[in-house]
Parts: sequence; C-alpha cells; structure tokens
Amino acid sequence: MSTIIWTDGRLEAAPHRQISLWNHSFHYGYGAFEGIRSYNVAGKSQVFMLEKHLDRLWTSCDEIGLTPNTTREAIADAVHEVLWANEFVDAYIRPIVFLGDGLGTLRDSRPIHTAVLAWQWDAKEENGRAFKLGISRYRRPDPQSYPSFAKATGNYLLSKTATLWATENGYDDAVLLDHEGFVSEASAQNLFMVLDGNLITPPESRCLKGITRATVIQSARSEGLEVHERNIAPAELLNADEVFLTSTASEVLPVESVDGQPTRQSEHQPVTKLLAQKYKDITENLTSPAGSK
Ligand code: PMP
Repeated sequence: MSTIIWTDGRLEAAPHRQISLWNHSFHYGYGAFEGIRSYNVAGKSQVFMLEKHLDRLWTSCDEIGLTPNTTREAIADAVHEVLWANEFVDAYIRPIVFLGDGLGTLRDSRPIHTAVLAWQWDAKEENGRAFKLGISRYRRPDPQSYPSFAKATGNYLLSKTATLWATENGYDDAVLLDHEGFVSEASAQNLFMVLDGNLITPPESRCLKGITRATVIQSARSEGLEVHERNIAPAELLNADEVFLTSTASEVLPVESVDGQPTRQSEHQPVTKLLAQKYKDITENLTSPAGSK
C-alpha cells in the first residue's frame, strides 16, 4: 500500500504528489513544519500534544511572515485522517506549510500550500542507547538577525550540517552553542544537564521551545526536583553529573559523554532514567481530548 498524504484539503496517494524544480521553498528554505508523535494506546492511535504543535506551527509561520492557507482545525483533522487512511497507530506526523512554484523574485509569496505526511514509527536504534555528543563549531545565529528559533525549513541547514560534522567526528550528535557562546541545544533536541540532583537547561530565549522539554520540566518539578532555566557555559557540560536530550522523536535520550569526556553519572544516570520513565508513563496513558474523533 502506498502512503496516503493530505495536501490542501485532499487525501491522495503520496507518489502522485511531486514538487517541481521551480518550487520556491525548495530553493530558499522557506517553510515551517512540525514533528508530532502518535502513540499506540490499547490499540488506538493517540496524538500527543497536538494543540501545542499547532500553536508552534502558527508561531513559526508568523516569525517568517508566512500565512497558512488553511486553519488549525483543518490540520488537526488532517492529522487524524492521514493516520486512519494509512492505518498508522505508532507514527510520526509532519505537517508542513510551504510555497509552490515561483522563482521570479524573493517577493513571491504565493501559492501557499499545506501538506500533512506521516510514517510508521517503530522503535529507533537509539532507543535506550546513550549518545556521545560533540560540541560543534557551528553556532545558532543571533535571533536579532535570523529567525533562529522558528521551526522553519531553512533552519535545518544548520542542524543538518552540524549532524554531519558530528558523525564524521565519531559523535552521535552535535551540541550547538548560540551566538554568544552559551549552550543552545543539540541538532534537533533540547538539552538538560543534571547537577547535584537538580536540572539545568538553557532558557527558551536560547533554544527551540521544545514541547518535550516543557513536559519534562513539569514532571521534574512534580517529582520535587528543582529546574533552573539559565545560561550554560560549554565547560559546565563536561562537569555535569548527567546530560540528556529531549524531543518528540527521541523522547528522553541519555548522553554518555561530551567531547569524549564521560558525564560523572554516565553509568547509572538516575535522574535521566526517572524522567524517561515518567515520560513513558505519560505517553502510555494518553486519552483522547473530550470531543475529539
Ligand atoms: N530543538 C530543535 C532544533 C528541534 O528540531 C526539535 C524537534 N522539534 C527540538 C529542539 C525538540 O522539540 P520537541 O520536543 O517539541 O520535539
């Protein structure tokens, strides 16, 4: 069965939908997207934090001056329709707002399209495996001069380049610093360090406003841990008791070393394990919001 996708209000078989070489977003990296998970809860797919992802999609579009050609409700329905049409239960869902053909000038701002794609999400090879991070020379640009923290397609040039750098240098992923040299995040995950039983993570002004990050902060506080959102100097990572990453795709991902130096609790990582388990508990017990299909 070929994958079914949703574009501009219609479900269609993915192979019938092609982007032309004249596509504006393809050339200029101009678009905004989301990465959403649905989980198998008692055999039914439950989409996690859909409203928060739609909020962020709208904020990202706003930051890059892109007006979606559809409504939040239409995308929310499309997410469910694509899951049903493909019979996906555990899945990764990717709504994307982008421009179609038109390479005349950078002023072109039409036609606007929205698509919702999804793919089956089986356990990934990194599940449970601790990551080796390397501090990359690539930095997130100054948010004053670039929409650094919109979830915009063009921003992933940096994430992609840093990931390639990490792989070539024997790391699993890169730590990106921000324009002032403080820790920002990994290529597509937020970063936390644990010091003396408390969590420290860069403030939202220095990283993508991660939805998993917010969930983990809430769980940590409910467990009585202190969470400090403050600037982190790269050298502090080398002295952390534990480091972990968070994202919709990789959930709570332990880190075993930074720049080749193991974190002090790299063997046991009690706080990371506790928060990973709390996250698992949340996703295993999702229920449909009232009124949803
Ligand atoms: N930072 C970046 C750059 C990302 O691409 C992602 C993935 N969306 C994250 C952090 C984590 O965000 P979330 O927890 O919302 O998936």
